[in-house]
Amino acid sequence: MRSKLPDVGTTIFTIQSRRALELGALNIGQGFPDYPIDERLAAEVTVAMREGHNQYAPMAGVLELRRAIAAKLNLCYDIVVDPVEEVTVTCGGTEALFCAIQSVVGAGDEVIVFDPAYDAYEPAVRVAGGVCLRVPLRPPHFRVDWQRVGDLLNANTRLIILNNPHNPACAIASRADLDALWLLLRGRDTYVLADEVYEHVVFDGARHQSVLSHQELRARSFAVFSFGKTLHVTGWRVGYCVAPRLLTTEFRKIHQFNTFTIATPLQVAIARYLAAVPDCWRGLSAFFALKRDTLRDALAHSGFATPSSAGSYFQLLDFSALSGANDVEFCEQLMREAGVATIPLSPFYRQPPKIQLLRVCIAKSDSTLALAAQKLNAYSATLAARRRSF
Ligand code: GLN
Repeated sequence: MRSKLPDVGTTIFTIQSRRALELGALNIGQGFPDYPIDERLAAEVTVAMREGHNQYAPMAGVLELRRAIAAKLNLCYDIVVDPVEEVTVTCGGTEALFCAIQSVVGAGDEVIVFDPAYDAYEPAVRVAGGVCLRVPLRPPHFRVDWQRVGDLLNANTRLIILNNPHNPACAIASRADLDALWLLLRGRDTYVLADEVYEHVVFDGARHQSVLSHQELRARSFAVFSFGKTLHVTGWRVGYCVAPRLLTTEFRKIHQFNTFTIATPLQVAIARYLAAVPDCWRGLSAFFALKRDTLRDALAHSGFATPSSAGSYFQLLDFSALSGANDVEFCEQLMREAGVATIPLSPFYRQPPKIQLLRVCIAKSDSTLALAAQKLNAYSATLAARRRSF
């Protein structure tokens, strides 16, 4: 058969989680929490089901939820969003990304993405008939080189995908980044897809800079968010896309034939929870910062360096002091010999340079993080002993 994506295999997250299960390794790779959710949120689901919210929801999402989303956006970013015309509830952030891409990208269109990039972007662009042009983020801080972005822009540039906070680089965009993007896009026919699923996880006093708070960018942007991340329920697959009316109209044409609607009782439950706890997201940065710092402190003498993480629920580990291997090899070695599953960075690149970084998820219980640190510390001691015996 003629595959549309001949070079695309199974996602690295699925591979690593499957291997972790097979080998009994501690899984701090794939991004999902391993601690319980708020009881009140869980209870709302049962109530919604018992009340009979069990049939198709409206295609764009339960109105009560879309209103709660608009209220939340008003509280977070001081913006007014029309819940009827500008908000669509989706099957997680991933469906929103896919539908946004399909709604604007066509054959021969160019899309700018940054390298490394979250793995869902490029296949969706290719399925739409477009091609991705990749702009490398500059290590160690993975900043955007806007000059290089500008050099690539042309009449075929249909979309630029900005992931902020960035997975896997753990970098965040500043207001100056958004202004630089706007200066480049002004007067062009290029849209923005802003993947902001980690909007509430920015560290060290920084504020999340949403494209929605940038008036000019907002007028041409799809902004994608995720209750999976905000409410610690990645398995519920409830996200949403915010876009101006005309873009939302196109977006819904794809969404209605893709997933059509999202699980009704989950939408009702989230709407009620948000009404009861409207600022439930407020403590998230502090909650995750504490986890990040706990892990970093526990690894302080391990030989694993912990580059700064400005946002997202990940932390990178730099193992260059411990091994000369590349990230894929070392990741495998760590899984087998230390019993810890992580995510290598190479799969996020088109053509990876030699990388000695692994991504770990900090959205884990304190005991999981402590056990992970213990295993990583023990393993680096083993490596040091091995080196001495040579
Ligand atoms: N977003 C999650 C991560 O980055 C993974 C989601 C998935 O497995 N597709 O780890």
